[in-house]
Amino acid sequence: MKVPLLDLKAQYQTIKDEVLAATQELFETQRFILGPEVEKLEERIARYCHTAYAVGVSSGTDALLISLMAAGIGPGDEVITSPYTFFATVGAIARVGATPVFVDIEEDTYNIDPQAISDKITKQTKAMIPVHLYGQCCDMDSILELAHAHDIVIIEDAAQAIGAEYKGKRAGSMGDMGCFSFFPSKNLGAFGDGGMVTTSSDILYETLKILRVHGSHPKYYHKLVGGNFRLDALQAAIILVKLPYLDQWTSVRRANAERYHKLFSHQGLDGFVGLPVEKTGRHIYNQFVIAVESRRDELRKFLNKANIGTEVYYPVPMHLQPCFEYLNGKKGDFPKAEAAAEKTLALPIYAELTDEQQVYVVQKIKAFYS
Ligand SMILES: *Cc1c(COP(=O)(O)O)cnc(C)c1O
Repeated sequence: MKVPLLDLKAQYQTIKDEVLAATQELFETQRFILGPEVEKLEERIARYCHTAYAVGVSSGTDALLISLMAAGIGPGDEVITSPYTFFATVGAIARVGATPVFVDIEEDTYNIDPQAISDKITKQTKAMIPVHLYGQCCDMDSILELAHAHDIVIIEDAAQAIGAEYKGKRAGSMGDMGCFSFFPSKNLGAFGDGGMVTTSSDILYETLKILRVHGSHPKYYHKLVGGNFRLDALQAAIILVKLPYLDQWTSVRRANAERYHKLFSHQGLDGFVGLPVEKTGRHIYNQFVIAVESRRDELRKFLNKANIGTEVYYPVPMHLQPCFEYLNGKKGDFPKAEAAAEKTLALPIYAELTDEQQVYVVQKIKAFYS
């Protein structure tokens, strides 16, 4: 048996005719930059995320960058975030010239620990980027309370969390802006790069749209320095085909997660292997991440030999990355993030995964530890 970490070819077979029809239509128009497909997708994503607006951008990374720019974050400003995230979260902060300030994570959700944030708030703290890691929202009540008390802008990194909910509220609708990615491995993946920023603020919406086209408004008149942060019409057309399937795919991912819980329990592995906990609402399982107390890398090799795809998200926390050495982070600063980097392993969870494949994955993990 073969179980890849993600099987995009299997998903493509289910939507191929619709994708080909939509892209062929677009090719006939030869209009590739912004335009009606992007506008239609922006409306649909705003509705899906329960916000007033959405702005299509070139990637999840650029969604973060343009959001920081729209909020006026720059040199001298501090931005609080998690050290246990994909690089782009922290890279964007550094690229606008601001200083990333890290706060350790919760052991069970791997999300930023709201109890540890207030110690890190200073006069320079201008923004916070909570990352809804693996598809589960952060503890937003506590985060928003701090933000209001200290006048801090909240930019949700919801790249892995489209459709995730916190107490009934959608990811990307709770902060000032929400950042999404259409990278192919995300739950709503394009056929290339793409991203989206959601907001319900009129001012931020207008600023984001201007920054997306080099700060030009009207054309060739520039009050701001922006960039080329545009979403392709082609990617928008493909995502428009996929969006109606998203909730169905999410339901299956959630059912797969539940099945893993049962299988691990049947094998007597649940006390041994840390399984994801759902704390705040609808987890969309962009990743199903387990934590093992010992021999994680050996387990990974063993599963790889059994044709089971896995990944480590992420092996090096941000405070220990060489490019952030200037922040003077050292081993021991964020023990929970460091422990997670050593213990976590993502298992296949995609919607087309079969029962037999899941049984096989758990059997192999059992075999390794027996
Ligand atoms: C994927 C991802 C990004 C970046 O998105 P891209 O579209 O790849 O640029 C940012 N943050 C997190 C948490 C991500 O998982």
